[in-house]
Amino acid sequence: MIKRDNGSLPPGATIGILGGGQLARMLAQAASRIGLNCHVYAPEADSCAFEVVKRATIAPYEDQDALARFANECDVITYEFENVPAQTASFLSQRKLVLPDPRVLATTQDRLIEKEFVEQLDIATAPYAPVADAPQLFEAVRRIGLPAILKTRRFGYDGKGQFKIDAGGDPAVGWRAIGGAPCILEGFVPFEREVSVVVARGRDGSLQSFDVTENEHRDHILKVSRVPAGIPDQVAAEAVRIAETIATAFDYVGVLAVEMFVVRDGTAQRVLVNEIAPRVHNSGHWTIDGCSVSQFEQHIRAIAGWPLAVPVRLGRVEMVNLIGAEAADYGRWLTVPGASLHLYGKGEPVPGRKMGHVTRVQVD
Ligand code: AMP
Repeated sequence: MIKRDNGSLPPGATIGILGGGQLARMLAQAASRIGLNCHVYAPEADSCAFEVVKRATIAPYEDQDALARFANECDVITYEFENVPAQTASFLSQRKLVLPDPRVLATTQDRLIEKEFVEQLDIATAPYAPVADAPQLFEAVRRIGLPAILKTRRFGYDGKGQFKIDAGGDPAVGWRAIGGAPCILEGFVPFEREVSVVVARGRDGSLQSFDVTENEHRDHILKVSRVPAGIPDQVAAEAVRIAETIATAFDYVGVLAVEMFVVRDGTAQRVLVNEIAPRVHNSGHWTIDGCSVSQFEQHIRAIAGWPLAVPVRLGRVEMVNLIGAEAADYGRWLTVPGASLHLYGKGEPVPGRKMGHVTRVQVD
């Protein structure tokens, strides 16, 4: 294992990444810029991250021989998605340093455990209640009221595993739609805005947050991110405080994103946590072109034991996701002044799939 005296990795070291999507691809591109190599491990032979890395392993997450070889060839291991199977993470941890510590996954893979974790830090969330069976759902509806959203505890993303029960709606329909999986019922939040904070925490516990990002979703998928968010400074400071409190409570190393709702409370605004992503995040893609350091480089620096950079935003930034067939229209962005186009190399567009993004920076 290549290591310096203080435990930090020197240029030339190898970072292992579990998962081969666009987040792994952009992590590898950032690592390459600062002289670090990446080895991506993913089960899908057509993973778009494979195109940009030095080494690749195509194998199931349950293949212990392949995992052991992978661990041997890496100096530190990280992941680009939160649903890494617990056994895979623990198998790798016994052989090599895995950062962020996979114990974080046990919390963030389960919406109920995540909500309880946030609550015990005295941070507000939407009202919620656990739902294990139909009677408990009716009890939860009675307590929380409608409209509400039934969300599966596990394996939900981009609105998958969610069912909105409207005012006057029949909860039993939602229960059937979700397939009777363990859930939480969440009160529907009449938010004014959705924002997120992407925060990096170093091995030494230092913290660096990017500016609060305002996010607009379409069909439950992030469509546009804008920075700065249109919220007062003290609300932004509270959002950053929340993200940094969560990162510190996890003793986290790497980049973490916290999605939040901004709600009106009389004349003031309050922030509620919606979700924690223990990884680089779509709402941080603007940092590649719009900031002095990207979320991807910050993550690599953190897990490599390097000092974090102090992020300096370069202007007002807007990031637009290219979803499905929108990517086929990439040519129109090539001549837009100030537009930076990113295509993830995923081949034929699939409806609802994130194929690329465009960032525009307006320097003040
Ligand atoms: P999630 O998968 O929990 O991040 O939800 C995806 C999107 O659905 C969020 O970004 C919101 O736009 C919306 N959403 C989720 N939960 C709620 C809620 N409790 N109230 C209102 N909108 C929500």
